[in-house]
Amino acid sequence: MENKKWGFKKEMELNTESDISIRGVLNMLKTNLNKSDVRPIIPLGHGDPSAFPCFRTAKIAEDAIAEALCSAKFNGYAPTVGVPSARRAVAEYLSQDLPNKLSPDDVFMTAGCTQAIQTIITVLADANTNILLPKPGFPYYEAFAKSRQVEIRHFNLLPDKNWEVDLDAVEALTDENTVAMVIINPGNPCGNVFTYQHLQKVAETARKLGILVISDEVYDHLAFGENPFVPMGVFGSITPVVTLGSISKRWIVPGWRLGWLVVNDVNGILKQHGIIDCIMGYLNLICDPPSFIQGAIPDILGKTKEDFFLKIVNIIKETATICYEGIKDLPGVICPSKPEGSMFVMVKLDLLVFDDIMDDIEFCIKLAKEESVIILPGISVGLKNWLRVTFAIEPTSLKDGIYRFRAFCIRHAKKP
Ligand SMILES: *Cc1c(COP(=O)(O)O)cnc(C)c1O
Repeated sequence: MENKKWGFKKEMELNTESDISIRGVLNMLKTNLNKSDVRPIIPLGHGDPSAFPCFRTAKIAEDAIAEALCSAKFNGYAPTVGVPSARRAVAEYLSQDLPNKLSPDDVFMTAGCTQAIQTIITVLADANTNILLPKPGFPYYEAFAKSRQVEIRHFNLLPDKNWEVDLDAVEALTDENTVAMVIINPGNPCGNVFTYQHLQKVAETARKLGILVISDEVYDHLAFGENPFVPMGVFGSITPVVTLGSISKRWIVPGWRLGWLVVNDVNGILKQHGIIDCIMGYLNLICDPPSFIQGAIPDILGKTKEDFFLKIVNIIKETATICYEGIKDLPGVICPSKPEGSMFVMVKLDLLVFDDIMDDIEFCIKLAKEESVIILPGISVGLKNWLRVTFAIEPTSLKDGIYRFRAFCIRHAKKP
């Protein structure tokens, strides 16, 4: 046994980006908290409000899970594409807002929106393939595309145009190896909601370039400004669209791990190119979302009452206003637009205003240390010297957090 050579060919690929990943940064900030501060920690860094009582999910959703579990109908393996009743329910739920109705065969059930992202990127990955991602964006796309050796190219979202896609950049970046562009609507991290007209332009650009649009709609219907939420699938007759979604955000149950990948492809382009077969092939390889959660989906999607959604959207609308009004006129921070959707807003730091702050990371470390407020530095979502602020927390905690944030900015601003 001496000189035994192990067969491992690969060195452990440490994710070099992990130090700026959202979780990595938030953990680092937590180690900088001042333990002798008796005030509660205000978490404005991550988008999971499920711990706050006012964001508890709908009773009907909890009952649906209990009923599916106790029915003993969902104790077995599910088909890898998903439980038929769940696929049908998602098709009906999304079709309410679409001109071309979806069939259950267009729907694939996944473990959260995260697994839908994994699935579509894996299916599209091929030698030399590249994919266009928004900047700022949701860094999981970068991390996962990298792990599949897919080249990443970034197009900007334009702060002066309410964070619309820079479509000229999309055209300039596209070549014969470009397979898709990703949009996130309502937007994480920008809190914007794309207009119908802009989405149509996105579709027309994609058709001209011959690329797929991947539309991350995990914040579907969390829109509370002027622009109503319009699903990208509306334009599925212009260009193929793959919609990714889940119940994580609208129902505030990210731990239930239930999402979907949906194909809006009126002209059958994806089928013709074998993409649908590849999706099914990949789903055969990976774990399904739990059967009983899928079993509850028809009731969750079909029976949740409008008053639950209204209550949640109204709280988030209120907190978005508290957040925006509280920071928009502060020294050193610039907020290009009022958030109109999702749970986030991007604010820019004017570092010249501050005495002793070098960049967004230092800002967030000092804020954690001095005020016990956690905010995500923009570098984690692709924009250095910006901040991503999550406002989806209990309004009283948010007010406290914004009050401390203001005190911090004023204290660190240069004295005249
Ligand atoms: C939260 C989030 C996801 C992941 O959704 P899960 O259903 O929790 O897996 C995907 N995309 C964006 C933009 C998100 O904010």
